[in-house]
Amino acid sequence: MAAKLILLCGPSGSGKKTIWSGIINRPKYNAIFSVSMTTRKARKGEKHGDDYFFVTKKQFETAIKKKQFLEHATYIDNYYGTPKAFVIDNLKKNKNVFLEIEMNGALQIMKNFSNKKKMFSIFICPPSITELRKRLMKRHTENKEVIDKRIKQAKWEISKKKMFDYVIINKDVKVSRKQLREILDKELD
Ligand code: 5GP
Repeated sequence: MAAKLILLCGPSGSGKKTIWSGIINRPKYNAIFSVSMTTRKARKGEKHGDDYFFVTKKQFETAIKKKQFLEHATYIDNYYGTPKAFVIDNLKKNKNVFLEIEMNGALQIMKNFSNKKKMFSIFICPPSITELRKRLMKRHTENKEVIDKRIKQAKWEISKKKMFDYVIINKDVKVSRKQLREILDKELD
């Protein structure tokens, strides 16, 4: 079966990473995580090259000019983008490529990867905005102003969830992880 692009999207704080960690890298899925480039500062514990490629605004803008992104977007005052060569090379090698990106980027990918057989999309949805705010506050990685901006963005992202092939409402991480495994088992068979 031809390799696929796995597009996963969901508001900040929806629990995306907790859901996919330790699942997507299972050998049976033959999938590789696409490390994005960002101008956001690294959080404690994040590693350059593992979590993101942390770059300056100037470096990011140079990469845009050189058309090195499959998609890129501005998210809460920072740039985020998917390096094109990595994705294309791995798909050519018949590896499935996993992208975890925000909605603007996801919409660009859906438009450009119009051959639906080569991709599928999953939206991780928080059970409610109240719950989402609680999670973002508990994380202590952003201040109130940034949390407010992320909540506003989340409302817009949730309004687009119907555009996705699958929606997982993340009430219970265990159940959500099971749902993700079922989707991957079906799509990557
Ligand atoms: P965070 O700053 O919390 O790591 O990420 C903020 C948002 O940017 C998340 O929704 C994350 O999925 C998204 N994101 C991460 N990498 C990319 C990327 O390469 N492109 C786009 N468009 N969004 C990304």
